[in-house]
Parts: sequence; structure tokens; C-alpha cells
Amino acid sequence: MSDNSYKLCHRCATAITNDDYSAFDFDNAEKAKEKAIDFVEKAGLIVIDVDETDLRGSCDACGEDIDGPGHTAEPQ
Ligand SMILES: [Zn+2]
Repeated sequence: MSDNSYKLCHRCATAITNDDYSAFDFDNAEKAKEKAIDFVEKAGLIVIDVDETDLRGSCDACGEDIDGPGHTAEPQ
């Protein structure tokens, strides 16, 4: 994990990987969905680690607390 890598919660990592944000609609998380989509537009191409890592802090995409299993992502 390098210094400029991103921390992503499981929901964001899955949504970004599959380009499917329906999980946010299911959770009624409209704000988080907007933030995640905004993050993807700004970050550009990223590669998300398929393996989960224990992370602390907030998700770089949706801004919600992770404090548990999440995914790291590397900018390309
Ligand atoms: Zn997230």
C-alpha cells in the first residue's frame, strides 16, 4: 500500500468495480452514492485490490467510516 493509495469501503469497491451503484439505492444512501460517483470522476483510472484489508478511517469515495474490512486502490 503506497502513500497515494485510496481507502475504499466494501460497498464502494464493489460498486466501482462493477460500475453498478444500485447498492446505494438499496441502502437509501443517495449522498454517499453521489460522493462515490464524484470520486470516480476525479480519481480517473484506479485499480482496486480484490483482497480485503483491515482499514481505519473513512472511505475516500463515499466518506463513511470504514473501521473494518475494506479495499485499497491504486491510482494509475
Ligand atoms: Zn465508501
